[in-house]
Amino acid sequence: MTGRAQMKNTTTFLALILVSSAAVAQDLRIGVFGLFHPREFTLSAPAGSALVVHAGEESLVLEGSSGVNLAHIRLHGDHVVLEVGTRVLSASECTVNSRKNGPVDFNLSVPGKITRHYRGTLEVETGLQTLTAVVTMDLETAVGSVVAAESTMGTPSEALKALAVAARSYFIAGKGRHRDFDFCDTTHCQFLREAPEGNTAAAKAVSSTQGLVIAYQSKPLAAMYTRSCSGRTLTPAELGLPAASYPYYPVDCKYCREHPSRWQSRLSAEDAATLKSSNESARLEVDRRLGWSAVPSNHFVMRKEGEQIVLRGIGQGHGIGLCQAGAQAMAIAGADFREILAHYYPNTVIVTLRGPCSSALISCCSARRAAACAGLLLQRLELSHAIE
Ligand SMILES: [Zn+2]
Ligand SMILES: [Zn+2]
Repeated sequence: MTGRAQMKNTTTFLALILVSSAAVAQDLRIGVFGLFHPREFTLSAPAGSALVVHAGEESLVLEGSSGVNLAHIRLHGDHVVLEVGTRVLSASECTVNSRKNGPVDFNLSVPGKITRHYRGTLEVETGLQTLTAVVTMDLETAVGSVVAAESTMGTPSEALKALAVAARSYFIAGKGRHRDFDFCDTTHCQFLREAPEGNTAAAKAVSSTQGLVIAYQSKPLAAMYTRSCSGRTLTPAELGLPAASYPYYPVDCKYCREHPSRWQSRLSAEDAATLKSSNESARLEVDRRLGWSAVPSNHFVMRKEGEQIVLRGIGQGHGIGLCQAGAQAMAIAGADFREILAHYYPNTVIVTLRGPCSSALISCCSARRAAACAGLLLQRLELSHAIE
């Protein structure tokens, strides 16, 4: 074969590899229920599920058909204590997976407060006076759990798809806000509850956009979004936040301009002492103490009324990136999810995560990077042939 023909064949081969490389599964470690500062959990196996629970050197199985399907997990000193019937196990951490050492369906509760169903593997570790529960789940399961948590009945499907792509992008590019896991399950990262059932609008929005992310300058973007804006989205700089890798251009939001979401709140002068309008850090500091309805957005005016401070504002959330209320209105008016994302994230493109270089290789990535990834694939194929 001539050098030229060989090169042509290799090029065709590389192109085939790139086209055929399917979107790969990625796992995320999600810290759950941290908001409750839990010191105990209840773990149970739903019908048809067998949970293999490991604590130190020992392990046991929770399964409905065996009559043993419930475990109490509590913090005792610096140990995790597991009670299953009359059996008591103690270890520095416990883990839960399927019989095949993979993801499994399980129910986890903070007794008296909350119960959720998850699919993944579970680790329970001791933290500072609390237990830390980390669920390792597939990226698409996590995206579905965010879309389900953030969507309300009747949200148009194109708005849900736009949210799914934004949420997936955030998961791909937004790690690093926690030491012990990738993301928490609150709005600090992304609000995440249970994965949606397969026939729901949220599940369909996720499956129909599988693997799609928003990219800016060839890199996935940790896409921020907000419940509703004040008629124009904001930049991090306008809220006293450090610059992000994406500039977050201010964007006109026709729906919120014409239908502002108004709110009013009363705080004591002491509680409002550190509060400033258009300062996200100050708002979060107050909301973490008093709850998210204390100061719902960054767009407000303050007035003293006796001993109290009255806040009047518009919008819900920080006001940066995609506006969910505006996205819904655009979808109702006939826009598809690509048009919605192009409106709220100018100068970005939507791309597909692919192949073994999944977090880096995107379908419209630079030729040089594509060639590098294809080369890596080729090396792996040659290696596997050599082993055969
Ligand atoms: Zn977080
Ligand atoms: Zn808006």
